[in-house]
Parts: sequence; C-alpha cells; structure tokens
Amino acid sequence: MVKSLRLEDYGELRKNPRIRPGRPFRFKCIRCDVCCGTGPNVHLSVFDVVRMAHYLDVDVVTFLHVYTNLIIAAHIPHIGLAGDVNGRCVFLGFDGEGRTYCKIYPARPMKCRLYPGLPIAPGHEELELDTKCPGLEEAAEGEESSVPTGLYRQYVEEMRMHYRFIFEEVVNKGRDPVDALYGVLRKLAEELKSGRLPDWADLDRLEKMGYT
Ligand code: SF4
Ligand code: SF4
Repeated sequence: MVKSLRLEDYGELRKNPRIRPGRPFRFKCIRCDVCCGTGPNVHLSVFDVVRMAHYLDVDVVTFLHVYTNLIIAAHIPHIGLAGDVNGRCVFLGFDGEGRTYCKIYPARPMKCRLYPGLPIAPGHEELELDTKCPGLEEAAEGEESSVPTGLYRQYVEEMRMHYRFIFEEVVNKGRDPVDALYGVLRKLAEELKSGRLPDWADLDRLEKMGYT
C-alpha cells in the first residue's frame, strides 16, 4: 500500500543541504543516469519550451504535445518534460560506450543546467543540493563546482516572467488556461523569429553563463 506523504515526511525531504549560488561544493558529474533517467520531473518555463522547440525546429504547440506532460492545477498550467517507455527523460541518449548524453544539450532546460542545484522558489537566495546525485559523493578532493550566479539570476527572472505572463492571461483576463499557455508560447516564438535574437533565446549567451 502506498503511504501518503505527511507534513513531517516533507520535513525529512527538506534536509538536503543548501547553498548559495557561486558557493563551491564538492561535485563531479559521472554521467550516470540518475538525474535524467529517474522520471519525467523537469519543470519547464515557457522560455525553456520555446528554446527547445526552436532548436528542434518544431512548432511550440507540437512540442508541448510530443515532449511534455501538461497539468492544469488551480487553473494554472504546469509543464513537465515527458518520459520515454522506460520512464527516462525523452531526450536522454546513450552513446556507443553506454554513457549518457542529452540529445538537446545546447537547448536543455534551465533546471538541467542548475542541477544538482534544486531551486527552492524563484526569489529564494539559496538552492538545495540533491543528495540523490552520486556526483556529490564520488567527487575527489578538489573536484568542485558551483551554481553560476548569473545563470541562477536568469532562471529566477524567467520564472517570474513565466508566472506573470500566465497569471495575466488566466487570472486577469479570464482566459482558458491551455489557450492562455498556447498564446504566451506563440507570442514568444514570434519574438524569437522577428529580427534581433532576444537575449533569453541566445543559446551561446546562455552557455557562457556556465552550468553546475
Ligand atoms: S548530475 Fe549527478 S545524477 Fe546527473 S548524471 Fe551527473 S552525476 Fe549523475
Ligand atoms: S533535457 Fe537533457 S539534461 Fe535535461 S533531463 Fe532530459 S536528458 Fe537530462
């Protein structure tokens, strides 16, 4: 029988260590498949969706249908990356030597760039470190990383804009949540294609911000 999560269990889950962006911690990615292979749990902002759809050269709504799970909770749409038949991220690949790689690496979502840093809330000054990541335990002395401060700021800004856009459409204008989401995505996709590349869509700029 599945045990319900109680408030005290949630307290246990919150015992992950916390770090500020820029603060070094012991870590080396060993390219296992724990993070990308244990379930479709990457929450996407509208900016993530438009960047990935553009990278794959597919329409934003098609991208939503094929690669994501959409949940409407309390009238607000929440977008999560879908899993394959094995429950792994749809974009997880394995090379000839069985090592993992991301098929959409240059356009991967912000939460993948921050991992094993887990944002607590947009605006919170710290992140949690996901202790399920073996790269934290297995890193040798001197193997360090940090959550880049500029990248975290960009993530926070995008999440604020994401919710502002959705709230404006759903709460203030009373639009259907799915129609509202489609509208926001199409507007951003048009912005991306019209003339100068917006900063948020510039994948080279994003890569220069670094990753954990
Ligand atoms: S970030 Fe951690 S969980 Fe993900 S592949 Fe690297 S070591 Fe494994
Ligand atoms: S998008 Fe790429 S980095 Fe992110 S979970 Fe999927 S395979 Fe991993």
